[in-house]
Amino acid sequence: MTSTKTHPNPPLKVALFNGLRRRCPRCGEGQLFRRGLKTHERCSECNLLFQRDYGDTLMFMIITDRIPILFGIAALYFGIHPNGWASTVFFFAALSVPLLATLRERQGLALALDYVLRVKLSDPSDELHAASLPSHSA
Ligand SMILES: [Zn+2]
Repeated sequence: MTSTKTHPNPPLKVALFNGLRRRCPRCGEGQLFRRGLKTHERCSECNLLFQRDYGDTLMFMIITDRIPILFGIAALYFGIHPNGWASTVFFFAALSVPLLATLRERQGLALALDYVLRVKLSDPSDELHAASLPSHSA
């Protein structure tokens, strides 16, 4: 792999927007998903490793899942009480259809959040920061 181009880290908003568009959070060019929810390991354009640690992304996946569900719970709490099977079915459809329809966008956002966190934490063992460190030959 010859990635001689350097890619500056984009501002937070750009990185998150790229994730929502299901593109690489760093360069905004490479596709995140191979098919379904299968992600590419690296960006085809800038060679960014998308998931350094699966657990990190999982945390953001859970966050981006739970926030929409919270709206449903809030709706129930603040007086929307489906009575009868038709309105109950409608209520759960209104909750779950947008959740399922935006699965890839939310996973893209989760990957982008993970990327932003990696940039902020500047963990020296992360290859993101390996290039910016003063070189100490091994
Ligand atoms: Zn990229």
